[in-house]
Amino acid sequence: MPLVKGAEYHGKLNKRRVSVRTPGGRTVYHYRKKRYNAAKCAICKKPLNGVANGPRSFLSKLSKSEKRPNRPYGGYLCARCLRELMEKRALLMSSS
Ligand SMILES: [Zn+2]
Repeated sequence: MPLVKGAEYHGKLNKRRVSVRTPGGRTVYHYRKKRYNAAKCAICKKPLNGVANGPRSFLSKLSKSEKRPNRPYGGYLCARCLRELMEKRALLMSSS
């Protein structure tokens, strides 16, 4: 299945070239699906949930709320790290 809807005929958008050495010693190019890196949390480096991923042409079609969680630091910190950060902040605020 192509990554971009309607891009079935735009082969270059969906493929990446991989060089493969054949048993005969020849180097041939195989075309594989393009890979896209998932967005990661800035603190724990775990992949973020609810963050859209893929080619720019696909992301541009999504609405803002479909691209990342709609909360402070959404798409930058994971829910757990954000909670820890907020709790730390609240502690600092109450102590000072
Ligand atoms: Zn995190």
